[in-house]
Amino acid sequence: MKSGKQRRLEIKQRRLERSAKNKAVDRYDIANRPLYSVEANHAELVHNNTYGALPLFYVDMPFECSDCGSDELWTAKQQKWWYEVVKGGINSVAIRCRGCRKKEQLRKSEARKVHLEGLAKKGKKP
Ligand SMILES: [Zn+2]
Repeated sequence: MKSGKQRRLEIKQRRLERSAKNKAVDRYDIANRPLYSVEANHAELVHNNTYGALPLFYVDMPFECSDCGSDELWTAKQQKWWYEVVKGGINSVAIRCRGCRKKEQLRKSEARKVHLEGLAKKGKKP
């Protein structure tokens, strides 16, 4: 009997292997849309004023975490959420794994706090 953690690791490994060829997939070519992909909803996509084409679908994208170098997967579902629900920039992509992202968020919020405290000490309004 395998543990849940083992199974999750296996599933992640399989998805990473399967998605390796997705780097070559043309997200504007709906005719050659892969089986494991999620359709994009252009009504929800924010156009960034470049008049560039918007992707027609999302596929799982493997990437290497820019901080720790681990092999990670940005799934099609996560991409749909990022672009269509939280309205992330259309040219932005995942670069950090979950753990490193949390660390970076913490670092940024600390830096912001220190910066604003500094401004307050000087008597300036941010
Ligand atoms: Zn990382």
